[in-house]
Amino acid sequence: MTKEKIVEWLKTDDEQVLEGLWRQADQARQLAVGDDVHLRGLLEISNYCVRSCQYCGLRVESTELPRYRMPEHEIMDCVGEAVSYGYGTVVMQAGEDFGLTTDWISHIVRRIKTETDLAVTLSLGERSLDELAQWRAAGADRYLLRFETSNRSLFERIHPSLPGKTSDRIDLLKQIKSLGYETGSGVMIGIPGQTWDDLAEDILLFRELDLDMIGVGPFIAHGGTPLGRPAENNPDQVPNTELMTYKVIALTRLVCPLANIPSTSALATLNLARGRELGLARGANIVMPNLTPKQYRPLYEIYPAKACIDETAAECRACMHGRIRSVNRNVGSGRGDSPNRASGDTGSGPLR
Ligand code: SF4
Repeated sequence: MTKEKIVEWLKTDDEQVLEGLWRQADQARQLAVGDDVHLRGLLEISNYCVRSCQYCGLRVESTELPRYRMPEHEIMDCVGEAVSYGYGTVVMQAGEDFGLTTDWISHIVRRIKTETDLAVTLSLGERSLDELAQWRAAGADRYLLRFETSNRSLFERIHPSLPGKTSDRIDLLKQIKSLGYETGSGVMIGIPGQTWDDLAEDILLFRELDLDMIGVGPFIAHGGTPLGRPAENNPDQVPNTELMTYKVIALTRLVCPLANIPSTSALATLNLARGRELGLARGANIVMPNLTPKQYRPLYEIYPAKACIDETAAECRACMHGRIRSVNRNVGSGRGDSPNRASGDTGSGPLR
């Protein structure tokens, strides 16, 4: 698909045309990854972060926010819950927290891999190649790192580098892939200053990077951050709407048919009643029920009014099962590895 065609889809509000897009994406999803919806148990293991991302409630400047780091025994209790619920994967996510040391994460990964059959996904920010290699050697299967936008100057504006370092997530993703991780990335939709061309380039970059997992979600302004104010009224500005998020999910499915694509909690935040289901009906095949203990959930507020912060892990599981069945799909079993990874088919041309 060309960039021009992607921009055309992104800009259309014609309901009949969009019905065609949803249909194509759903067919592509069914052909490429089938009807199973895989559940990833999400564990937000620490809300410490050294970064200053302009949109994020966990940024280091959020000094009022009580910080936590889950102890090993709590993590392992939640891992036990993941097993008892039949999940195939546990995702350990945190801010960029160097208090989560290389050895400690390696130890936790090793324990999970020794004591369970779960796949382990890490999402711990921009870490060094040595650390990433050690965690891979300890048994970590997958790594998630969103590049957020392919527009370099916009990225630098919203995501300042640490002093003395240059943040290059696209390069890091290539390194992560070369270490043998199943590699995931994604973007925000409707970042203030993001244009239609930028978003189309993002979707093409998914293909070029040959990603195994692709998560996209709307930009949701957080009042306590520099990007907490509404975007300027600019005709080139991508809106941060629910509809735009469905369009990006659908186009991502068409451009990267074999990737695992989640219907995210950010989507559920915009439409609690139907957001996840509509994401699943328009190209997605993954959901991520939250396993994080209830006392920590309100403290992992990357954006405000996040969905599902009051439910227990058991309630999240029951809710997800119901939602999956309501759209006539099956609850997947096993690890739900990315068919893209299994195919070894890049379909993408050279990496930049
Ligand atoms: S987006 Fe991630 S790296 Fe940036 S401040 Fe938030 S938690 Fe930290």
